[in-house]
Amino acid sequence: MKNFKISIVTPFYNEADSINLFFESIWNILNNSNFSYEIICIDDGSSDNTLEILKKFAHNNPDIKIISLSRNFGKEYALTAGIDAAQGDAVIPIDADLQDPPELIPSMVEEWIKGFPIVLAKRASRTTDTTFKRGTAHFFYKVINILSDVSIPENTGDFRLLDRSVVEALKTLPERTRFMKGLFAWIGFDHTTVYYDRQNRREGKTKWNVWKLWNFALDGIFSFSTTPIRIWTYLGLTIALASSLYGLSIIIKTLVYGISSPGYASLACLILFFSGINLVGIGLLGEYIGRIFIETKCRPLYIIKEKIGFQEET
Ligand code: UDP
Ligand code: MG
Repeated sequence: MKNFKISIVTPFYNEADSINLFFESIWNILNNSNFSYEIICIDDGSSDNTLEILKKFAHNNPDIKIISLSRNFGKEYALTAGIDAAQGDAVIPIDADLQDPPELIPSMVEEWIKGFPIVLAKRASRTTDTTFKRGTAHFFYKVINILSDVSIPENTGDFRLLDRSVVEALKTLPERTRFMKGLFAWIGFDHTTVYYDRQNRREGKTKWNVWKLWNFALDGIFSFSTTPIRIWTYLGLTIALASSLYGLSIIIKTLVYGISSPGYASLACLILFFSGINLVGIGLLGEYIGRIFIETKCRPLYIIKEKIGFQEET
């Protein structure tokens, strides 16, 4: 009974060491299942021989398709390229480093058959992460869920099953700031959850560092919420009110007691404090203006250099 097709979408960026193991594990699962599949591999401008190795695999296997991007666009864009090209009835994005266990795929498909358009794979624990990463991740989800209208589930990555209807909805979101977790959450639809323990990366090393994670978090917050600028409006109002009251008290004091001794230190502190507040406010506006600038250019999200294994479009 192979009457439906699942698209596995995997971005590869300098994953030469992981590819063999990846295909081995995923085939093990897919070949024992009762559905047909395609594996869409996106080479995200790797500088090692990832693309050559992928091509070798694709050469012997018609279910493997390759999209090679013209440079490194980043995981979110690579994923978007893969999801756009997927033809299956359901799409499952999965990392190349086996941190998302392929063993979960059959149970995700089962839940989908039961009628859930989205099946989330949620980490039961974050024990393989450092305390720092655990703590900052938890804090990030708290902040973003307070600030934005959509609720982004904690401890879920891009590993999930998306029904064709969900994929089509996702394709209608044109924004350049691809904060995928946010986009997935924004489109809505019912979901169910399956749980797994996240493993350590099998081969190679992570492409993330603290600076990249920080920027990723800012992207998430600024592209999904305008609350930060609104907070600034209230902060400005509060400060203006407090300053007026303070000013009034100084005027009254001067009228009653005459001119007091010059307050150089307090004046300097106040000026420095408010210049700081002003600069942060301008920076915050800049975050949004920068994003408007990027969006108005309407550049494509990614550029494809080469497509392998896809049937010619008619
Ligand atoms: N990846 C990508 N482009 C990038 C960085 C990463 O396509 O610029 C891919 C990478 O090959 C892997 C997945 O995204 O398949 C997750 O990357 P990584 O393991 O570095 O992230 P982590 O698991 O640490 O969040
Ligand atoms: Mg990883």
